[in-house]
Formats: sequence, C-alpha cells, structure tokens
Amino acid sequence: MKPQAVRGMNDLLPEQSPVWAYVEGVVRDLIESYGYREIRLPIIEQTELFRRSIGEVTDIVEKEMYTFVDRNGESLTLRPEATAGMVRAGISNGLLHNQRQKLWTVGPMFRHEKPQQGRYRQFHQFDVEAMGYAGPDVDAELIIMCARLWKRLGLSHLTLEINSLGTPQSRQRYREALVAYFSAVKSRLDEDSIRRLEQNPLRILDSKNPDLREIIDAAPLMLDFLDTESAQHFAAVREFLDAAGVPYKVNPRLVRGLDYYTRTVFEWLTDALGAQGAVCSGGRYDGLVEKLGGRATPAIGWAMGVERLVALYEVCGGKVAARLPDVYVVAVGERATTAAFALAESLRDASPSIWPELNLGGGNFTAQLKRADRSGARYAVILGEDEITGGRVAVKPLRLGEAQFDVPVSALAAELHKRLRDH
Ligand code: ATP
Ligand code: MG
Repeated sequence: MKPQAVRGMNDLLPEQSPVWAYVEGVVRDLIESYGYREIRLPIIEQTELFRRSIGEVTDIVEKEMYTFVDRNGESLTLRPEATAGMVRAGISNGLLHNQRQKLWTVGPMFRHEKPQQGRYRQFHQFDVEAMGYAGPDVDAELIIMCARLWKRLGLSHLTLEINSLGTPQSRQRYREALVAYFSAVKSRLDEDSIRRLEQNPLRILDSKNPDLREIIDAAPLMLDFLDTESAQHFAAVREFLDAAGVPYKVNPRLVRGLDYYTRTVFEWLTDALGAQGAVCSGGRYDGLVEKLGGRATPAIGWAMGVERLVALYEVCGGKVAARLPDVYVVAVGERATTAAFALAESLRDASPSIWPELNLGGGNFTAQLKRADRSGARYAVILGEDEITGGRVAVKPLRLGEAQFDVPVSALAAELHKRLRDH
C-alpha cells in the first residue's frame, strides 16, 4: 500500500509553490509597509491557552483541536489559530509593557474539520495583530489594508461585512435577550443549539444548519443593544471606511466563531470559491490580554486563509510561472565534465542573476541536449574537448530562434548577461 498524507493535510507540490511564493510575498510586503513586524511562534501551545482564549463552547475547542498529552503528561495542542499564541508571546516576552505592538506571522494551523474544497485540517493563515491600540482608526486601517491587498493581487468578487459586538457588559444584556428568544422556540432548535442555549447563545447565530436560518434571522440584533461608546466606535470605523472608499455591508448577524471578540468584527467574503466563502476574518479583542494574564490591553487583528487566497487569485486569472534556468551546461567527456563545474560556478560568481543548471549524471550529447531542452533554459552551453583546448564554448539558443554562436570562456558571463537582459 502506498503511504498517504493524513486526511485533510496537503503537500504543496513544486508546480504550486511559485504561485504561493508570489502571493505570500505580496501579502508580506504589504503588511510590512503598514508598519507590522514579523514574529515567529511555536506551532504547539498549552491546551489551556486555547481553551481560555477561544472559549470552551466553540466549534474549535469542542471538536476541532488536535490535542495530545506529551511525555511529561502535559496537555498540548497544535494551534488552531494564531491570535492566542500572539497574545501569549506578547505577555511572556514583556512586549506589551508600556508599548504598542504591530505584529504579523504566517504558518500552518490545525483543525479537525470535515475536509472539502477550501477546508482542510492543516491550512495556512497570515495573521496580523495590533496590540495596545484602542481604535477605531486601527480597526479601519486593518480593513483598508485588506482592500489594498485585493487591488495589488488583482482580486475581485470580495465583499466586506462588518458588525459590532459591543462590550462584555452590553453583550450580557444581548445574551439575555437571545436566551429568552431562543428558549421560546427551543423545540425547533437542533441538538448543538440547545446545548449552547444556556452556555453560549451567541454561538447559535453562527450555526451553519440551514434549518435554523429562519429562526436565526428573526432573533434580536446585537446592534440594538450596543452601549453608547461602542456605538460611537462603530460609527467612527464606518466613517473611516467611507472616507477611504471601501464599501461594506453591516451584517448584524456576524458574530464570529471565537469568544474573545469585542466591538468591531469583520469578514471578507467571496462567492467565487463555492461553499468556503470566508477569505479573511478578524475583530477586536479588548479583553483577551488581561484574561490571559497580561495587563489590560486593547487589541485587534485579522487572519487570512492562504489556501483560499491563492485559490481566489487563480480564479481571478492570476498565473505565476516558475523561474527556469537561464543556461544548461552540457559537458561531454571526462575533462569537460570537470571543467563544467568551474564554468557553472564562474557564471554564478559573475552574477547572482544568472541561473545556470549543470548537467548531472553524465549522458551522451543527445541525451544532455534533451535534458537542456526539458529544463526550460534559454541557452545550452556546450563544453567538449575541442572547446576546452580552444578556451571557447559553444552556446546553443533553445528558445528564441537566435543563431548558435561561440565565445571565449572569459566573455561568456558578460555575453549571457547582455542577452538575458535584452529579452
Ligand atoms: P469558516 O467560516 O470558513 O469556518 P472561520 O470563521 O472558522 O471560517 P477563522 O477562524 O476566522 O475562520 O479563520 C480565518 C480564515 O482562515 C478564514 O477566513 C479562512 O480563510 C481560513 N480558514 C479557516 N478555517 C479553514 C480551514 N479549515 N481550511 C482552510 N482555510 C481555513
Ligand atoms: Mg470554521
């Protein structure tokens, strides 16, 4: 039996890596241009960190975490998202004492979900967090940053939904209203929702069960329960977005699947990827740093799914070709094979922008030329006994219909450089 990757975990094959590298590079440059600095975090954290931050009664903590006991009997979890680790790192490294931090990271996340197109058990996220910023300017900027990214990548089919979840106090009043409402229609709820009714009624709004659509649509709205300050904060975020010309829809049902959010929450959605519509989601989490043991620190961030972003880039017509070698070095005979090493390395010395590929594993002239052709290189440089004796090499163009020529070895790099630059 052939070995298989773990279900829902993908290999990223060489054909796909150029588009990933390109898209990731664009995202990285953009994020850094807004003043965010990279932080790299462990993929494993103590289970308790996720339980406390994401919340006990959430899909992630209830049924999606990869949790295991290590050899010391400690319960550890493969991170299902990055915010908890970011906040933990901020606290444990003292990054939040009298300072503000704008941080980003990228890497794999793990959730035991039902694998399907756009939904995997190992997937990748860019994660951006601003800690120590009370907003609403930063809320708006984080969203505007995404809009700029869509433009840079040439993406369309993206819409923005925003909402405010208020403060824990105003949310408590809303929660009571929800419990009253859902209790009255309890017989029509599904099992998950009945369980959540007492523990975490907001989660019912997040249900993906289509049978509950109607009941959820008629439930009370958080926006009617907002405290004055949260309402002002939300209005200011909207004003900044309006001024920046970033269109949005206020979706009073948007609650997000994690417990730690306060005030602004948002989601960038697409209808171009089938059922998996969320490309980037985020929100403010003013209570989380304190909850995890730090000093009270307002904060906000977003997470973007790289698989979905790359898929959307391709759906929108984006293509990235792999960079091919410029020159394939063909060498026939023992002396030439040895000389070919020196030649290839001297080309690299001359300019890092020239990419030579050395023929490896010998072979006769025809076989080597075939490999040269398959490599996609523009030129084959041919080294044989005659060439070595004469101090010259033959250059056979493989693509553009140029004529074959020969040059002294000492002039090869300059000649290639000129030709590669001119085309
Ligand atoms: P969804 O509603 O699709 O389950 P989510 O609300 O669980 O998304 P977040 O936890 O906010 O997603 O994660 C941020 C982003 O990470 C999502 O917008 C999405 O692009 C991506 N993402 C989340 N879960 C997965 C997954 N299992 N596979 C691939 N990408 C994912
Ligand atoms: Mg989810």
